[in-house]
Amino acid sequence: MITIQEKPSLARRTTLGIGGTALAEVQVTDALDCFALDSIVKKIGGTPFILGAGSNILADDGELPFVLIHPNIRTEPIISYEVEGKALVTVGAGFPLQKLLYFCAENGLSGLEGLVGIPGNVGGAVAMNAGSYGVETCAQLHSIVLYHPEHGIWQVDAAAIQYGYRYFCPCENLKNYMVLQATFALTQKESNGIKKSMSLNFLKKKSTQPVAARSAGCVFKNPLGESAGRLLDAAGLKGKQMCGMAFSSVHANFLVNEGGGSAQAAFALIDCAREAVLQQFGIQLEMEVRVISWQSR
Ligand SMILES: Cc1cc2nc3c(=O)[nH]c(=O)nc-3n(C[C@H](O)[C@H](O)[C@H](O)COP(=O)(O)OP(=O)(O)OC[C@H]3O[C@@H](n4cnc5c(N)ncnc54)[C@H](O)[C@@H]3O)c2cc1C
Repeated sequence: MITIQEKPSLARRTTLGIGGTALAEVQVTDALDCFALDSIVKKIGGTPFILGAGSNILADDGELPFVLIHPNIRTEPIISYEVEGKALVTVGAGFPLQKLLYFCAENGLSGLEGLVGIPGNVGGAVAMNAGSYGVETCAQLHSIVLYHPEHGIWQVDAAAIQYGYRYFCPCENLKNYMVLQATFALTQKESNGIKKSMSLNFLKKKSTQPVAARSAGCVFKNPLGESAGRLLDAAGLKGKQMCGMAFSSVHANFLVNEGGGSAQAAFALIDCAREAVLQQFGIQLEMEVRVISWQSR
């Protein structure tokens, strides 16, 4: 089914809770709906932007000339068969990542437990190659199913996918693809052991990150061999506030909306932090969060 909402609020569609409105949000709940997307987007007339659960997004203020495309394909995980001693779990891109982790733990399937506490959907985790505690989403893939306006729907095997630190490229030079489904290759293990490891990881996360605050996770990527949080802390940014936005006093690399924050304040803090880290350490911080803006940020 396809549903179209006019002027969706990005503040409401993102965990950071800031941002203006897009032209429209087009939601698809079935892979075959994708074939109608191109003409719908052309009719509305904006730039398409694929939006998952919005947990890694910093959206600009004002009226933004984007059409949000939300692949809300929530097909429940299915355990199929084993290849090379691994069980295959296939799931829709719109399925919540944390629900998948609990399904895997319940069924004694190990590989994803390091991703505990990462909000968002399976498609977003693949597209961002989300990772923590030494686990990267894309390293656990067996294959994915993609949609592209020119190439239609097809399957890509894990061996063909390029990925790295918060980097994912399913096919050379391909843009505007949408992940519709992912199949993970996981190892059979004892369920209680997996649950224990997830609990330990989550406790660690809770004690070092502002997990309950309105944020988009880490705002900057860690430079090679360095921690962006440590650099921001050393440059005096930890706890720095501006008009409702702040670098968290729990973890300096989390930009949080303390209430009434705006993208204007967020970008001012980001510019200030980049400048301070560049001046003090000669390191140019790169954004980890994805920006939706009409100007290049
Ligand atoms: C409290 C908190 C903790 C976090 N901790 C971590 C962490 O430990 N590690 C980590 O890596 N991240 C972390 N994040 C960031 C975020 O949760 C992940 O990047 C998550 O995987 C994004 O998924 P999403 O569905 O919300 O994607 P969105 O935020 O909606 O989108 C992110 C990007 O993926 C693209 N995208 C989304 N879905 C699709 C799709 N189906 N097909 C193609 N492209 C798509 C979007 O275009 C966008 O560029 C954290 C965020 C928060 C708020």
